Amino acid sequence: MIFFSTSKSSAPVSIKKATLEGLAPDGGLYVPSEVPRFSAEELELLENGTFSNIAFAIAKKFAGAEVPLDILSKLIDDCFNFDTPLQELAEGTFVEELFHGPTLAFKDYGARFLARMTGFFAAEDQQMITVLVATSGDTGSAVAYGFNGIPNTRVVLLYPSGKVSRLQEQQLTTAGDNVFALEVQGDFDDCQRLVKQAFVDPDLKRALTLTSANSINISRLIPQSFYYAWASLQLSKRYPGKLPVFSVPSGNYGNLTAGILAKMMGFPIGHFVAASNANDSVTRYLEEGRFEPKPTVRTLTTAMDVGNPSNFARLLHFFDHDYRKMGVEITGISVTDEETEATIRSVHERYGYVMDPHTAVGYRALEEFRNEHAGTGYPGVVLSTAHPVKFDEAIMSAIGKEVPIPESMKEIMEKPKRATLISNAYQDLSRFLQNLDR
Ligand SMILES: *Cc1c(COP(=O)(O)O)cnc(C)c1O
Repeated sequence: MIFFSTSKSSAPVSIKKATLEGLAPDGGLYVPSEVPRFSAEELELLENGTFSNIAFAIAKKFAGAEVPLDILSKLIDDCFNFDTPLQELAEGTFVEELFHGPTLAFKDYGARFLARMTGFFAAEDQQMITVLVATSGDTGSAVAYGFNGIPNTRVVLLYPSGKVSRLQEQQLTTAGDNVFALEVQGDFDDCQRLVKQAFVDPDLKRALTLTSANSINISRLIPQSFYYAWASLQLSKRYPGKLPVFSVPSGNYGNLTAGILAKMMGFPIGHFVAASNANDSVTRYLEEGRFEPKPTVRTLTTAMDVGNPSNFARLLHFFDHDYRKMGVEITGISVTDEETEATIRSVHERYGYVMDPHTAVGYRALEEFRNEHAGTGYPGVVLSTAHPVKFDEAIMSAIGKEVPIPESMKEIMEKPKRATLISNAYQDLSRFLQNLDR
């Protein structure tokens, strides 16, 4: 399969090049030249498949020509060695829990697949890929544990000292020998500036093959379509002819874009609710047809605080830059912090279920969508993007209860922290990177 850039001036590339490059040289995002379609027969065969079966069937269509199928199959099994449960809160209302991976957030799906694809392609060329990321928390931990122990790869991640939670810091600083955490004496903007500078440093370019692993990589997008496919096939057996609505808590809109991809492939999905917080540039675009990104606003749902979403370019591409076409498939609903907190409380009261604030934004948006489209009787699925323990302060404030720490996390909490303290001057970072191979 061939991938081209949404900006259209770079040459089309293979999935290998798209994965190793991340962003296209013209600044655009890679999209498949043609979205593969599953026939009715293929879908029927997959209906009783496992998560891995479905993931493999999709991955094969995108990467089957370039990754030997036995390797691809093993790679998938290794990625998704945890469950993706569909919890039923009430008849027809489901929460798809995407937080059972090693760092308790849905970013594990993308990061684990990307890591293994990168490792495979790097080994083919007998090279060592150095992934460089600046993180304020969640992306970095998924990348750290995603690349943990993957041959031909190593990760250098920069995080601002004293500005991440203890749980996040443990996740950032306890992965394997190929993951290097740099604790920067500065803020997140310093971390980002240092990383940007490293990417344009000609001395480093000669010494290392640097890549970025951020959420625009096509190999992070593809695996996020797997859980839409998985849930939609389970629901189509139970609700024949009634296509489910997926509500997606959105920040950079990578998750939602992956859902669009799953629907375009033919999986039985009805509609999408793009749930946002006060950062509502896409919501307003869907209403008015004008995209006017604004500076980021700080909210309770920090992982969705994005003023100018990076995957919007892909959404525009898939809908021919036509907001009316986009509106046929996606309804944008923005949720306030007060509504988010009230939702955590009311869901807990009604169902005894504790959801994280991001998931609560999705739940609330689905409720609103249903109120406006009463009597349709479609099943609804809220994507739960994080385990509530990751946002325990918000949970405590909403319901006055502590969230028990899962066993896997207790292990990580007990591991010794391994980090190198650096200043916010570029020489510190460049010296560290230059010395990686010494
Ligand atoms: C990253 C993240 C989101 C937003 O996902 P996008 O793909 O950027 O839209 C939502 N919730 C949580 C918990 C996240 O970590």
